[in-house]
Order: sequence, then structure tokens, then C-alpha cells
Amino acid sequence: MPIATVSPVTGQMLQEFKELDHAEVDARIALASETFLHYRLTSFADRARWLRSSADLIDAELGAVAKTMTTEMGKPLAQATAEAAKCARAMRFYSERAELFLADEPADAHAVGASRAYARYQPIGVVLAVMPWNFPLWQVVRFAAPALMAGNVGLLKHASNVPQTALYLEDVLRRGGFPQGCFQTLLIGSAAVETVLRDPRVAAATLTGSEPAGRSVAQIAGSEIKKTVLELGGSDPYVVMPSADLDRAAEVAVTARVQNNGQSCIAAKRFIIHDDAYGAFTERFVARMRALAVGDPMDPGTDVGPLATRQGRDDVAGLVDDAVSKGAEVLCGGTMPDGPGWFYPPTVLAGVTPQMRMYSEEVFGPVAALYRVPDIDRAIEVANATTFGLGSNAWTTDQAEKDRFIRDLVAGAVFINGMTTSYPELPFGGVKRSGYGRELAAHGTREFCNIKTVWIGA
Ligand code: NAP
Repeated sequence: MPIATVSPVTGQMLQEFKELDHAEVDARIALASETFLHYRLTSFADRARWLRSSADLIDAELGAVAKTMTTEMGKPLAQATAEAAKCARAMRFYSERAELFLADEPADAHAVGASRAYARYQPIGVVLAVMPWNFPLWQVVRFAAPALMAGNVGLLKHASNVPQTALYLEDVLRRGGFPQGCFQTLLIGSAAVETVLRDPRVAAATLTGSEPAGRSVAQIAGSEIKKTVLELGGSDPYVVMPSADLDRAAEVAVTARVQNNGQSCIAAKRFIIHDDAYGAFTERFVARMRALAVGDPMDPGTDVGPLATRQGRDDVAGLVDDAVSKGAEVLCGGTMPDGPGWFYPPTVLAGVTPQMRMYSEEVFGPVAALYRVPDIDRAIEVANATTFGLGSNAWTTDQAEKDRFIRDLVAGAVFINGMTTSYPELPFGGVKRSGYGRELAAHGTREFCNIKTVWIGA
């Protein structure tokens, strides 16, 4: 895969970038490793100032950076703008909170025969971040902001189709004041990741992306005994019970499925509807899905732009065609349009069965699968019948049902009467094949730290 900006709207190559050679990668690792030696000694106040300045730059450049993201991966411009603004907000959040999250944690000194004992969070070193294109700014910032505040330095291997966003990230952090070498973009393909990861100067890695990519990075890191955090795929359930506000549930369901042109790990992908709500919910949901405007993501009237890559669209079309050939009912969409670009229409399928690939595989596009269930037990059974466990959603006003969903949905997050969203204030991550480790909040800030036990005698 070339490192290049290719328009998802037209399929045209807009700009190609030369991949770094071995010596260039080596020089960047050397710089990162040397930088860590003095960066780890900088104060929280300095790091916070640099992060706030970077946030101010992003806010000032919101229009331009959003346009770059939309050009590279096709999300509607308003969503790209919101993503950039969210990054600035998160940077300010960590600039204020990281010192508190990483404060020494006192232990009972008397019980361990010490005059003082505590746990101290220390930075681990150079962290490699392998990142996806779908939220090209946010995925990186949610790693970089807490990691930099903790005193780590970062090397970014971004997805090959978002090189301009990747270079912007390095540039904006540098202009914000971070010392040179604190955060560098490596323009390399995925085949070059192994060499970087095995380099003794690289301490750990975080990967957000697909299961095969996660497995590969985890295997390599495992053989080097290096820490990893993996944020992988999801096939989130969205359960609707009869007591729910069905208008609101249907409205939010559309956003939860098609935001980012349907390419979100925490998108609701499987809609599990109680018999008594099925007809009313489906009617509302399909009407809204059908009414969405598909088109140029730069156009303010567009709800859904193209998928980011040709391969991505082929994968989505393949899953829909497989389901339809095995008997799924198409309630809207389902046909690949003619013409340039990688567009795919908002699609709703009913009657999806375990024999269809879509039942167990992630659909990374604007396609919803509906499942009809007789009661809450079956709803939870279907919701958990997946190898993934990232987010989950349940709609009900019944307190006992809320408690059941919170207790029994096997996922890294459960959102009741709302859609799964990442917030700087809340931990984010999955279970099962959605990965391990956490990003965001105090939990994410501590992931790439050495938790050093300090015991001081008399
Ligand atoms: P992908 O192919 O795994 O790509 C993600 C990143 O991994 C890219 O930088 C890619 O580089 C790199 N990569 C791919 N194969 C690799 C390998 N064998 N070794 C090392 N690096 C490798 O993912 P995608 O299909 O573009 O992205 C969609 C997936 O990401 C979905 O499954 C989605 O659910 C998941 N995702 C998860 C989260 C989360 O937080 N859990 C968030 C967003 C997306 P190249 O571009 O050069 O191939």
C-alpha cells in the first residue's frame, strides 16, 4: 500500500510520499531515545504548557486540519471539525489532570516495616503508536496527550492513507513547544513495524486497528517482552426494549451506525430489538436511514460520505451480498452505486442468521443488521454472541433491565439510553478480541508507566 493521499470521492491519487528508508528510521529512533533521557526530567508544568499551546494551535487551525482529514479519508467536514475540536479539548483535559492521575500513591508504611512507602508512576520510554485512519487525529491524540504528560516520547506509524494528518500531528506538537524528538511521525508501511518494535530503544507499543494487525504486533512485542495496548475491532450490540423512547432510540441508532460513514470501532452494528418494539422501531429507523444524504463530504448537506478505501467498500459489499444470498431481507440500500468514488448507501438488513458472515464479522460501513428477540435473556445472549467486546448499548426505562444489561453485557463499555462515545474523562477499551488495556482517563494515563514501588526504611 503506497503512503499517499488518495481521494475517496474520486479515487484519484492526490499526493504520494516517499517511505523512510532504514537509516532514516534508525535516526528517528535514536533521536526519540536521546530525547527521552532529558524529556523525562521535565516538569508537569512545562509539559502542560506545551500541550495547551498545541491545543490552541489546533483550535486556531480547525478549518484547515478538518479539510485535510476529509480529503484523506472522506468523513463529512462537520464531523472532521468536531473531531479536531475534541482533540484540543482532550489536550487541555490532560494538561490539567495528568499530574493528579500520576501522583504518588501512599501505602501503609507501618504494615511493611517502612518509615514511608508508596507507588510512583514513571514514564517507560519510547512508545510506538500504530494508528488507523478512521479518526485520524483523535486516535493519535488520545494516546499522545496522556503519554506525553506522563513523560514518555512517541513514534507514530499512522495508516498509509492519512500521511498529511500524520505529519500535521508531529508539526503541531513541535510548534506547541514540545522538544524536538518528543513526537515523530514515521512514514513507513506496516511491513517496517517489526524492525521498529524489536529495536531495544523502543519500550512499548499501542495499536488501534484490525485483529490481524493487533495479533501481529502483540506476537512481536510478546517475543520481546514489551508491553502493548490493543484497541481492535468491535461489533457493538444496540438493544431496544419495549419501555424505551423509540423515537429517540431510532434517531440515536442512525447516528450510532452511520457516523464517520459507518467506519467506527464503537459504532452500533447489531440492532437487537424486543418483539414488542420491533415493528415500531424498525419503521422509524429505516425511514431515517433511507432519508440520509450520501455525497461529497465537503458539502455541508452530506450526512454520509464515501468509504475511505476501495478495499473497505469491497469488504462491506461482500458481507451484504453474502447475507442477501443466504436469505437476509434488504429493508433499504444494499446496492453498490455506479460512478467514481467509494460510496456505499446506508443499508438495513433483517433476518440475519448465524450462517451469514455478517453475524460474526465486523461490518465497517453504514450497514445495520436487525435481530428480533422475545425477551431480555435472549437479547443478552445475542448481544454476547460475538468474539468482540468493545462497546454496548441498551435502551430501556426499566431499572431492573438496566441493572441486567450493566451486569451481563460482556464489553468494555455499556451505555444505557445513549450511544457509545469516547470521552477524555472515561476509560476506553475492550475485552475478548476487541483487545486489552485502556486508553483515556486515569487508567489510560498510567498504561505506559513503570509503577515503581518505593520503600524507605528508618
Ligand atoms: P488496520 O489495517 O489494522 O490498520 C491499522 C494500522 O495498523 C495502520 O497503521 C496499518 O498500517 C497498520 N497495520 C496493518 N497491518 C499491520 C501489521 N500486520 N503489522 C503492523 N501494523 C499493521 O485497520 P483498518 O482496517 O485500517 O482499520 C479498521 C479497524 O480498526 C477496524 O477493525 C476497527 O474496528 C478498528 N478500530 C478500533 C478502534 C478501537 O479503539 N478499538 C478504533 C478505530 C478503529 P497501513 O495503513 O500501512 O496498512
